[in-house]
Amino acid sequence: MPTKKNRCDFCGRQEGENGIYLLQGLHGFICNECVLQAKEIVDQMVASKQKDDDKEKGKNKKLPKPKEIKAFLDQYVIGQDAAKRILAVSVYNHYKRLAQTDKGDDVEIEKSNIIMVGATGTGKTLLARTIAKLLDVPFTIVDATVLTEAGYVGEDIESILTRLLQAADYDVKATERGIVFIDEIDKIARKGDNPSITRDVSGEGVQQGLLKLLEGSVVLVPPQGGRKHPEQKMIPVNTKDILFICGGAFDGIERKIAQRLNTHVVGYGNVENTYRIDKENMMQYIAPQDLKSFGLIPEIIGRLPVLTYLEPLSREALRQILTEPKNAIVKQYIKLFEMDGVTLTFNPDVYDFIVDKAIEFKLGARGLRSIVESIMIDAMYETPSGRKKSVTITKEYAQTQLSRMNFERLRNQ
Ligand code: ADP
Repeated sequence: MPTKKNRCDFCGRQEGENGIYLLQGLHGFICNECVLQAKEIVDQMVASKQKDDDKEKGKNKKLPKPKEIKAFLDQYVIGQDAAKRILAVSVYNHYKRLAQTDKGDDVEIEKSNIIMVGATGTGKTLLARTIAKLLDVPFTIVDATVLTEAGYVGEDIESILTRLLQAADYDVKATERGIVFIDEIDKIARKGDNPSITRDVSGEGVQQGLLKLLEGSVVLVPPQGGRKHPEQKMIPVNTKDILFICGGAFDGIERKIAQRLNTHVVGYGNVENTYRIDKENMMQYIAPQDLKSFGLIPEIIGRLPVLTYLEPLSREALRQILTEPKNAIVKQYIKLFEMDGVTLTFNPDVYDFIVDKAIEFKLGARGLRSIVESIMIDAMYETPSGRKKSVTITKEYAQTQLSRMNFERLRNQ
């Protein structure tokens, strides 16, 4: 007589059927297949709960206060106190504003997009990038020079949002709270004060397009970007809560500032009304009307209510950049050697030598890394296969290496 075989209480399959075996519990049986399936389902449930928890945590993550934001920036960016304070306050206000609209309050705090003016390589991008790191929001950098009006060669304005969407892993909600850094905004300035001289492909038309994003509207964004995929389904993104930070060198704007200040002084005519102007750093007097004289349209300027400036980097600042920030260039090389068990030391006069070269070659902060790289390349090539446990870079060594590397060719002008 065949014995009655037990069955799985979930799927009903019999013991022995196609490799099915049963586990017995207090109240019945479950087969190996059902155990696996149940595990998968539980795993999914746990993962989805974790995701919800993370989202909730993200929402409740306490927004750092302006002083905390500045202290964080100080760890990575040398100097630029004026810009740091202004950025810290505007970013804080921006996110407070988001928190407020969530509650449906009727006092509407206006959006505080930011424009930073300062020579290239003084830390504009670094500031924006560091803020995004602190806030843990999607962040993207776009170069205004590649933007053109629809229909011309180049990227459409909407491509800015494609990038942000990609940075947010296509999470539209996250994208709508992100930060966009638009670099070289000065390059889309209208050429000349008279708008009608010539048709200005990369100038005013792009500014008009940008306006739409800055002021907050729902924009249809091509998820793959650009014109290469005309068949793709557009994703609507509301830019109302996206923080735009623009940066530009505005070469020659000092002259516009000086002109305005002069007119002002002459206008009032008497000595009591004149005040001492620090001619070495005209940028600190920058005002919205200077941006207008430079060629930004008033509507754009109006949508970038927070205006701040970056100072030219002094010799002292360059030296600090080399050694002090949390991820200072020198610290990075020391770390690289450490990973091979080698202690790397620089004699202090090497730092001065590097800074002198960066200034002499007019390379600014950006040049520091290429100078150090040229000095270090041979040591980085030899050391991993050698026996030395320590390497010291002297000024003489640095000098020899730089001349061997034909560094002269990098001289700017
Ligand atoms: P910008 O956007 O103003 O042209 P970046 O922020 O891209 O300049 O700066 C270029 C590089 O120079 C940075 O990656 C950083 O290594 C260095 N740098 C520039 N300014 C500073 C600064 N104030 N503090 C620290 N590093 C700086």
